[in-house]
Amino acid sequence: MHLQNEKQPGEKTGKDEQNSYEEISEKRTSKLGYILLIIMVAFVIGVGETIFSDLAGIPERPVAPSSCVLSSVRNLESLTKYSTCQDRGVPFNDIDKKFGLDEKYNGIKPQLQEIASLNASIGSNNSEVRKLENDIQRLNRDYDLSLQEKMAGEKAIADKEDIKNEITSAKAKIGILQAEIRSLESKKGPLISQIRPSVQSIERSHQEAKDYFLGKAAWFRFKVFLLTLVFILPFFAFSVFFYFKLKRKNSPYTIIFTATTTAFSILFLQVVGVFLYDILPKEWLGRIFKFFMEAPFLRYVIYYGSVILVIGIFGGIVYYIQKKVFSPAKVAIRRLKDKKCPGCSFSLDSQHAFCPNCGLRLKEKCQHCGELRIKYLPHCPNCGTDEVGKISA
Ligand SMILES: [Zn+2]
Ligand SMILES: [Zn+2]
Repeated sequence: MHLQNEKQPGEKTGKDEQNSYEEISEKRTSKLGYILLIIMVAFVIGVGETIFSDLAGIPERPVAPSSCVLSSVRNLESLTKYSTCQDRGVPFNDIDKKFGLDEKYNGIKPQLQEIASLNASIGSNNSEVRKLENDIQRLNRDYDLSLQEKMAGEKAIADKEDIKNEITSAKAKIGILQAEIRSLESKKGPLISQIRPSVQSIERSHQEAKDYFLGKAAWFRFKVFLLTLVFILPFFAFSVFFYFKLKRKNSPYTIIFTATTTAFSILFLQVVGVFLYDILPKEWLGRIFKFFMEAPFLRYVIYYGSVILVIGIFGGIVYYIQKKVFSPAKVAIRRLKDKKCPGCSFSLDSQHAFCPNCGLRLKEKCQHCGELRIKYLPHCPNCGTDEVGKISA
């Protein structure tokens, strides 16, 4: 970095800059201090999460209506003996009973069991048919082979007539099985139509139970939100209060509250974020997002927008940090502290008025006392006034 003679890197060395300069060099803590603070932050967050999940257990958590009632009656074609709720030992819960799902289900239970056993018979007949069809394929291959062998004049391994007979008998068996399947299906059809009104009634009641549950669940989440907020808010507020109080006083203990504020901010944002996500009209947002994603042009607007946004946010944070730490004034002060030129880092003698390497002007006349003072440091070493002309206490 080559600075021009009269362009001072530290011209605006006001009071604020001076304070943050102290912060960089002295308000840091030792490595052990940092490690302890990081452990503290992790611990506070961990304890906070434990308390949150404990608080979520205080309001009564609503239970959803059993989904297996619905899946049993909705998949009548594939219903088997063990796919009905009660056969799997799932008891009806309170909300099921409240909306009469248990009674309605038990009302059609004999038919459901009948359908399940018919499905089982149809299934086993079907697999029998598939097995026989595979056999026929294999027999056909054997038949072709024996035909070829005969044409080539070799002695056939398998007898042609036997294979033919086997194929005929397998085909006959398939015919019998398919007739049986048709008869089973013809028993099942009327059963399904017979219970259709009850199935529709179960579906309606289940929907009502689900709506009721969703309302209860929303209320439950709101109660959990209030409880966690009441818990975290005082900690968060006190931590922020002490942070600013100590920071104003330039206290070296500010960093402790920086750490606690970090931890409580994370917990606080979590509570608020979960709640906001909960009340967000997700369906609505999903529809907008889908609309954008379906149009190729708009989709790329989103892609480009999100890349720019991410770079903007993360780049902005890093830029702010770098600007604070590496402002020309700070760089100049840090270099002068090491007896180096603020412009080029060349080693300096305190008597030099210009850098012998890059020619940067290092000293100027104090506007207050007229003696030479170092240009980039806030106070005149002779009279003590700072740049603005105040005599420091
Ligand atoms: Zn220099
Ligand atoms: Zn002076």
